[in-house]
This record gives sequence, structure tokens and C-alpha cells, in this order.
Amino acid sequence: MDVNVRMRINGKLRKIDHFPSEDLRGFVNVVKHSGRLDITQQHIAHDGSFMRALGGHIVDIRVSVIPTIYGEKVVLRFLLQDMSQKSLHDSNLPPRIERQLVNVMRKKSGVILVTGPTGSGKTTMLHRAIRHIAGEDINIQTIEEPVEYRAGEFVNQTAVNEARGFTYPMAIKSVLRQDPDVILVGEIRDKETAQIATEAALTGHLVLSTLHTEDALGSIVRLIQLGVAEWLISSTVVTVINQRLIRKFCDCAEDMPMFPGREYFRGMDIDDHVLDALERDWPKYKIKSPVGCKKCDGEGYRSLQVIVEQLTLTSMVRDMIREGKPYREVIDFIRSKHYMNMIFEEGLRQIMLGNTGFEELRDLPRGDYVMKYPEEIIRDATETAETRRVDIETTSLPQAFIVPREVYDPAPEKSEIGMASIKSPPREALR
Ligand SMILES: [Zn+2]
Repeated sequence: MDVNVRMRINGKLRKIDHFPSEDLRGFVNVVKHSGRLDITQQHIAHDGSFMRALGGHIVDIRVSVIPTIYGEKVVLRFLLQDMSQKSLHDSNLPPRIERQLVNVMRKKSGVILVTGPTGSGKTTMLHRAIRHIAGEDINIQTIEEPVEYRAGEFVNQTAVNEARGFTYPMAIKSVLRQDPDVILVGEIRDKETAQIATEAALTGHLVLSTLHTEDALGSIVRLIQLGVAEWLISSTVVTVINQRLIRKFCDCAEDMPMFPGREYFRGMDIDDHVLDALERDWPKYKIKSPVGCKKCDGEGYRSLQVIVEQLTLTSMVRDMIREGKPYREVIDFIRSKHYMNMIFEEGLRQIMLGNTGFEELRDLPRGDYVMKYPEEIIRDATETAETRRVDIETTSLPQAFIVPREVYDPAPEKSEIGMASIKSPPREALR
């Protein structure tokens, strides 16, 4: 029997090599030695790391070893340290979103959330955001598990260690005694962390964190489910970025000269009116299809690109959350007033710009809403006079103050928002 070597390249796992199983023991020992792990322990899980210079990059290699029925399985995660050294601008965000994010990063208090599944680049995004404001005049503290990137000068990074009892809540409490301006909390996944993080934001700290949710508004639902009061959420959360990584075409991609017919889009869950518009206006866009060449190993795709949806919590949106309005009503309102493109629509926009192919839509959450027309999707990603007005509103956060919980907390038995999001409402007929 052979040992398979697989690599996840641009999000897809592929077998790239194999070797005889007699060599496994030696290989595992070399890896464990590099990661400073105990070679003699073969029946427990291990974690470690080591640094290497590879292809002109400093790479932090994270080692994870677990025993399986055939021997020890090794996973190496390659973290390019220069990925976080790039700026927010390098993320190629839609201009409107980049500007709003830069805007909220200048705030003295509030919560900025980044959501998405594991491996969607949330940590990279937060570190790029931090780089944007780091300097000698600002006390930035990160609390992470583990620390993935070195954030550079004037940023203090702390790793939580659940096994040794140094938890997120404990770390945040300690950090708060050190008069921080900005706190990056690696992940909010329990009630206590959610509570302490939002309360910190209420007392004059900018808190950045991540949550595992399907979409941006889902993060608000998640916080409610974790027991954070609506008034606390609505007076602290300023913006939510939901993101995914999609594969970007190699230069070998070719123009798709004609609408390929309805059958081509089967299973992609694109609304009929959007397909009608695409068919009618096809030549207006730069739609391409993957080809494959030597440079991209015949894949047609060569790199990854982040795509985002951004939820701006203006005062009206905050009121709707506080009043426990249904999920669908909130989303429709935000989309109509604040030009929010959902992540699926962002994927379609990247296709229309010729950056990626239709197959990348399959991994994006579709959600339950009526899609915008293609020209609206393109327009709403860029700057408009109306979005400028929205910005002014978002910058005037309500005064941060602590209010007695019993006065402001309507203490609903169960949240309307939370409930509505779980069983999604039927998609209505076309507008
Ligand atoms: Zn190629």
C-alpha cells in the first residue's frame, strides 16, 4: 500500500505524489522533529510549527499529526507571512466596501465582524484591516488561537490556550486592563466571549472579530442566539463583512462569445429574470470560460480571490434589529436602501467582469432573496451619491454608554430575527 500526498491548491484537493508506506515512519519523524514534536508519542494528536524560506517567501508551516488506523496522518498548513503584510487595497474589494471599511476602522468604538467558513480568509482580512491603522499612537492587541500572522510593530499578539485554561473571555478581561484602543478577538464562538467582546465595544474599544455564519445578517442572528441583547448588538456592531474565496482565472481563459443556453445554468440557482437579462445583454459583459495551460496545470484557474458582502448597520437597520423584525424584512430593507450585494451576486459580478467562471457559483450560499438585475449588481458595487449619504449616517454611532439591562432589554422569549432565519421564508415572486 502507498501513502498518498495530496495538496489543496486554490481550494481543490488533488493527489500530487505517493510513496511506499515503509517510508511513512521516517517522513513523519522528520516533520515531527521540525515542528518540535515528541517523536516517541505515536498514539496522540500533536500540533506544532516551523518556519522555512520557500520560493522567495517566508512560510510559517503549521503541523498537525493525528493517529489513524494505518499510521500517523500529517497535515501541513502553509501560511505565507507576506499575505497579511499586504494592505486592504490588495484585497480588491468593491470600491464602496473598501471605503466603508476604512471609514469604520477609524472609529474609537464598535464591533467589526468578519464571517465565513474556515479557510475563507477571515484572519487575513482582519490583519490587513489592522495594518491600515497600526502605529505608535494606537494600542492594538490581538487575542488569537493560534497566532497565524506576525502583525508587525506596535501590535501585541496573544495566543489563547484553552487546554491550559487561558480562554478567550479570560484573555479579553486581562487585555482590557491594559488600556487597549483596538482588540482583535480571533473568533466569537461562545456566549461569554460574545458578551465580553460586545461590552468592551460599548466602553470605548474597537473590537474586530470573526464568526462562522452563512451570510452577513446571520452574524447578528448568531449573536442573539448566543444571548447578547439586541440593544447591545445594535449599539455596538457597525459593520459585518461576509466573505468567501473563489478561484480566479489563469490568463489562458477565453471569451465566451455567446449565451450558452439555459441548460448550461442548470443547478446554479440563478433567478430566471437574471438569466433573461444575461441572455439579452451578453455582449455587454466580459464573460469567459476556463481553458487550461501549462502555467495553471490545466486547471484554467491560477489563484484565489476574496469576494465579500457587507452589511452596514445604519440607525434604521439597528432599529429594525432592536424591534426584532423578521430576517427577510431586514434584508429587503438593507438591499433597497443601502445597495447591499449578496455574496452570490458578488460571485456573478466577478463572472461578468471576466475574473472567474460560472462553476464558482456552486460553492456560494444562495440565500433566500430575489436577485438583482445584472446591471444593478455592477452599479451597486461602485460608488454612488446615495452611498456617500449612507456613510455619513454610519459614522454617527449612538453615544457609547452603559444602560441598565432591564430598562433597554425587551427580553424577548425568542428572537423574531433568530427564528425567521432558521426556517427561511418562501422566495417571493418577481418584483
Ligand atoms: Zn492557464
